[in-house]
Amino acid sequence: MKTLKRLGIIVVAVLMLLVGVTSNNQGPTAAVQHVRMLPSKRMVLSKQQTTVFIDAGHGDVDSGMIPLSGMYEKDVNLDIALRIGEILKENGVNVVYSRTSDVQLSTSNVDDLQSRIDLSVVAKADFFVSIHCNASEYGTRKGFEVYTDPNDAEAFSLSKNIEEKLEEVNYTDNNGIVDATELLHLVIFAEVPTTLVEIGYLDHEDDNAFIQTEAGRQQIAEAIANGILTKIHQS
Ligand SMILES: [Zn+2]
Repeated sequence: MKTLKRLGIIVVAVLMLLVGVTSNNQGPTAAVQHVRMLPSKRMVLSKQQTTVFIDAGHGDVDSGMIPLSGMYEKDVNLDIALRIGEILKENGVNVVYSRTSDVQLSTSNVDDLQSRIDLSVVAKADFFVSIHCNASEYGTRKGFEVYTDPNDAEAFSLSKNIEEKLEEVNYTDNNGIVDATELLHLVIFAEVPTTLVEIGYLDHEDDNAFIQTEAGRQQIAEAIANGILTKIHQS
């Protein structure tokens, strides 16, 4: 009887583990697990598949920048991140997201940022692209910036490609590439070539007006995706 009872406990434990594994197949974690899936025939035929980690900045109670009107930064970031991901996937790129819904990865700001880096490592990402929107002290600044480590050749050329494609959309000022090696956690502690795109200023009338339209966000997403694809084809 004792042995039977023990066996019963083991069976229950195994079942619980299985349920746990199944329920983990949701959200960003599931996306990370996809990296380990067996490659499909198409992937085998193409050259080694590139993995791009797309990070929608902020989430949940961390709204990011507050716009003059319309969507908060966290929602704009997620919308654009998902649009970029769709385009990349259509082009055979393996895409992993830091989040696909309105969540934080940690209530601590530093842990939240580090979790995003850690997920990109687990995903064995080739590139890390973070999407953000800006705001300025007096609401007078406009334009996009691309933050990176200029001494990391891969990160810099990725950033340069994205900058050029965004410039072509001609929706705001190009504030250029910014050295973030002493500025941003994601760049300072980057494990893979990393770029952080501030797509515009939500407290500036012109930038916010463009970003708050679906067509505007789609154009920005297409430009960033094309920049990434150009970089991948150069590699
Ligand atoms: Zn932000």
